[in-house]
Amino acid sequence: MAKKKLEYIWLDGFKPTQSLRSKTKIIDNFSGKLEECPEWGFDGSSTEQAEGGSSDCILKPVYICPDPVVQNGYLVMTEVLDADGKAHESNARATIEDEDDDFWFGFEQEYFLWDTETNKPLGFPASGFPAPQGPYYCGVGGQNVFGRDFKDEHLNICLEAGLNLEGTNGEVAAGQWEFQIFAKGAKQAGDEIWMARYLLERLSERYGLAIEYHPKPLGQLDWNGSGMHANFSNSFLRNAGSKEKVEQVCEAFRGVIDEHIAVYGAYNDQRLTGLHETAAITDFSYGVSDRGASIRIPLYTATHGWSGYLEDRRPASNADPYKVAARIIKTVKSATVAVNGKEAAMA
Ligand code: ADP
Ligand code: MN
Ligand code: MN
Ligand code: MN
Repeated sequence: MAKKKLEYIWLDGFKPTQSLRSKTKIIDNFSGKLEECPEWGFDGSSTEQAEGGSSDCILKPVYICPDPVVQNGYLVMTEVLDADGKAHESNARATIEDEDDDFWFGFEQEYFLWDTETNKPLGFPASGFPAPQGPYYCGVGGQNVFGRDFKDEHLNICLEAGLNLEGTNGEVAAGQWEFQIFAKGAKQAGDEIWMARYLLERLSERYGLAIEYHPKPLGQLDWNGSGMHANFSNSFLRNAGSKEKVEQVCEAFRGVIDEHIAVYGAYNDQRLTGLHETAAITDFSYGVSDRGASIRIPLYTATHGWSGYLEDRRPASNADPYKVAARIIKTVKSATVAVNGKEAAMA
């Protein structure tokens, strides 16, 4: 049996935004199961996860898929543990409280393809600007589309890896793209977003491009920023059956604006201005089909007997989906447990 190449992937300890790291482990007699993946270690002093004096951190495998590019390869997502086996403080996955996978998440990951020679989005001329926003969103044609081959190759390898990509589209700015990933289970959704980001990063190496996750890379010019809208539901929302119950969940977010914004990505204040299909970072609002609201109640939910999902539009493209999911779950549980409790009391 050929030796297998396992790419162990983790999140480093850099602040305010963690980055992906990976290294390759060769294993004999491996049949592709997560249980077969041993724990491994790395030098945490090089990733801002430990002091030089006691630098060992542990990589605990939590998710595996075939590597769609490397022959005999697998991609292994890991959680970082301290030397004593406890979750490292950089390990947000371990903070997700979704024991029974009741929470479903659909993340819409936006990003810019970045031309490292011009230091501008792909498609921007070396000096000046391309035509203003308008033709790029879901655009077609050489004057509107920059990087479709890259986007399609990324889609293909994600599907080959078994990730549940649901779609892709060209975004509002030139050189800006989106893909959506859906999973039943918050950890699974986070794992798949990080795996898709890993494949995006690795593909960019070959194209001589970079992936720009900054939520507002073009500053306050009239160009959209990048988000990672978080669509979510739990069994309470999926079976709510009334406007009041859905709005009760929305209302629970009002008192914890700062707690949410704290994990929705760095520099998000530059993006959440109230312009460009966003709500201002200090405001909280919700509404049916409202793309200028903090939380949009999708038409689907309103027209399916008020049962379905909600979309928090505030998370930025550079947010950690584990942190976003953990916080949303906390807030939704605070509302749905209260509502369930009230009903139980009335019954
Ligand atoms: P838009 O661009 O209009 O906001 P998208 O189609 O890009 O919408 O994204 C919608 C997301 O909502 C998808 O990722 C989809 O999987 C997700 N979604 C749909 N139903 C649910 C649900 N019940 N729970 C969680 N997410 C859902
Ligand atoms: Mn979308
Ligand atoms: Mn979008
Ligand atoms: Mn959206």
